[in-house]
Amino acid sequence: MARLVMKFGGTSVADIDRIRNVARHVKREVDAGHEVAVVVSAMAGKTNELVSWTREASPMHDAREYDTVVAAGEQITSGLLAIALQAIGVDARSWQGWQIPIRTNNAHGAARIEAIEPDTLIERFGIGQVAVISGFQGIGPDNRIATLGRGGSDTSAVAVAAAIGADRCDIYTDVDGVYTTDPRIEPKARRLSRISFEEMLEMASLGAKVLQVRSVEMAMVHGVRVFVRSSFEAPEAIDSSKGAMPPGTLICDEDDIVEKQVVTGIAYTRDEAQISLRRVPDKPGVSAAVFGPLAKDHINVDMIVQSVSEDGSRTDMTFTVSDSDVGKALKVLDAHRGEIGYEMVQSDKGMVKVSVIGIGMRSHAGVAATAFAALADKGINIRAITTSEIKFSVLIDADYGELAVRTLHSVYGLDKQ
Ligand code: ASP
Ligand code: MG
Repeated sequence: MARLVMKFGGTSVADIDRIRNVARHVKREVDAGHEVAVVVSAMAGKTNELVSWTREASPMHDAREYDTVVAAGEQITSGLLAIALQAIGVDARSWQGWQIPIRTNNAHGAARIEAIEPDTLIERFGIGQVAVISGFQGIGPDNRIATLGRGGSDTSAVAVAAAIGADRCDIYTDVDGVYTTDPRIEPKARRLSRISFEEMLEMASLGAKVLQVRSVEMAMVHGVRVFVRSSFEAPEAIDSSKGAMPPGTLICDEDDIVEKQVVTGIAYTRDEAQISLRRVPDKPGVSAAVFGPLAKDHINVDMIVQSVSEDGSRTDMTFTVSDSDVGKALKVLDAHRGEIGYEMVQSDKGMVKVSVIGIGMRSHAGVAATAFAALADKGINIRAITTSEIKFSVLIDADYGELAVRTLHSVYGLDKQ
């Protein structure tokens, strides 16, 4: 017997037929003797619709009331799935965030889970009942419903798994795992059977959309093993009672990965913009003068490159923000031009950031150099580079984005293993 959390995303519960299919996945695990808590998202498209209604009612609205509206999508799915489970003879009960309770902080619309009281859920396991929990929501210190930010039901699932001490958190989605890169760009992409928490965190942060970044962070901190698999696989196809595992990717501790690769995956994000400040005085405090005001206005700066000044007096400073923040960033820079003292500002939108991720980089030299040579070979110009312990990223023109992804995927042999 194991204790499992099973999480189903929006496409997996998009209509009543699919909810019935989900019920059969749950029944399979219950029949195998496991204790099961299910976490559900809203039906596909529902949350978008609810969000648009709040905007239509008033563009400037109270975040608490936004939460009241958008949390409703998950409430519907939890009730429907409990009904579908009962209809096939599985004892099940729906739970909203406030009922468990899942306690969050007060940041309505982007709340963080602070604590989950597991007692009620564990008591229900004792009587053989499945808990069907609404993802994406909890209850704030103000005693009102709070939502966790878009995509937050992944985080709900991992948090519940940590709280009840689950053996595994299974994330059922519309793809059958985590791939070496996006198969829509590189058809030779392969599914990874295992990936470490650290690598998955980088993959998710750098553009892979399988899991919400925060859920991976939480899994890493609490050591929750997460298994990503497809809900479209026939529920009875694999007899898990005999220990067989369906196609999928296990996100786990790096010590649990036997075949270690130097490079595990290639991620990319679109809509990056580059801003360059030309001829900035090269003196202490100038970076603070540039990035302080941007941070104060909640503009997220990503890559930063500063060139060495020829005579030590002036330098160029280049950094990236998302396309949607360029206008705001230019305004902030203009307002602080006096303190910063740059001569000219240039900006370019529509760039792509391609990232190479792999825990093996810690112990292998020359991984990035291989990429630079391969990109040069294809005539792809690199505008900026950042590196950290287990990844590096290059900023390039969007036209070359897909070519860069395919080139790097093949230069590290990811299509072959
Ligand atoms: N339904 C919410 C959203 O669409 C939460 C989730 O699906 O994870 O953002
Ligand atoms: Mg999702």
